[in-house]
Amino acid sequence: MENDESLPLNGFSVDVEDGISIAMRDRFGRRIAQTERVLTSTRKILHLLARHDTRGTFFVLGQVGEAYPELVREIQAAGHEIGVHGHDHHVFHKLSRDQAREELYRAKVVLEDLTGEKMRGHRAPCFSIDSNTAWALDVLLELGFEYDSSIMPCRGLGYGWSGQRLGIGPMDTPGGGQIMQVPLSVTSLAGRKVPALGGSYFRLLPLSVSRLIFQRIQSQRPVIMYLHPYELDPEPYPEFYLRELAKATLKTRLRMRSFWLRRKSLMQRYDHLLSEFRFGRIKELIPEVEPT
Ligand SMILES: [Zn+2]
Repeated sequence: MENDESLPLNGFSVDVEDGISIAMRDRFGRRIAQTERVLTSTRKILHLLARHDTRGTFFVLGQVGEAYPELVREIQAAGHEIGVHGHDHHVFHKLSRDQAREELYRAKVVLEDLTGEKMRGHRAPCFSIDSNTAWALDVLLELGFEYDSSIMPCRGLGYGWSGQRLGIGPMDTPGGGQIMQVPLSVTSLAGRKVPALGGSYFRLLPLSVSRLIFQRIQSQRPVIMYLHPYELDPEPYPEFYLRELAKATLKTRLRMRSFWLRRKSLMQRYDHLLSEFRFGRIKELIPEVEPT
């Protein structure tokens, strides 16, 4: 059913990062090397999409490309689109403009060298483009990116830019340019706009509700879903991580625990959606960016 071309096309996107090493740095101030969890979990997503003969867009961290070049080649060989998710997963709020340019340039070079393809699309770590960091869109244009898919048009906890466009289209940048914007899908739930088809919302809402939300958004515009490899990792956290977590504040411990809820059933949920709806690479949704 998913290959029925009469069905509307939606975007399937993956932010390829090692959740363990990022959480160790950002939550506990400890730097460790990439763990192999990113390899095994990303391969699960590759198998999931292969089962459904579906191609998506993988926004890859430059540091993942450096640590596991074979993974980038596997993603490319399976016909998926590769975009940039920054190099070291720093949110734009913590970077100067020069640092952001360096971060994006490093990742672009790593991924272009590995793939032999020009990087056209970008997804910011933690959806960190909003009214305070909109200058990052000009940096993307300077580096030759053609589209950005970082804006979550709602007010979330630590992310989101409410009031922005809900569908794909050109967006003016503060520097007077224009970049194609592919916002993440949001929907109204109990009077609030929320990213119901990704992250904790997607894991916690009943599948029947997620399907209705999907249909509702799809009747107006393509749905843009996002997934992180660690969301499909059912293995317990490593010991070194649990030791740091035990020392953290209750708020951090609860937040990290919430990332674990319903991980085990998530694969089945994606299997359902991929069977029922049609997905493709984000660049296929942008006619101006589709010369392949
Ligand atoms: Zn990320």
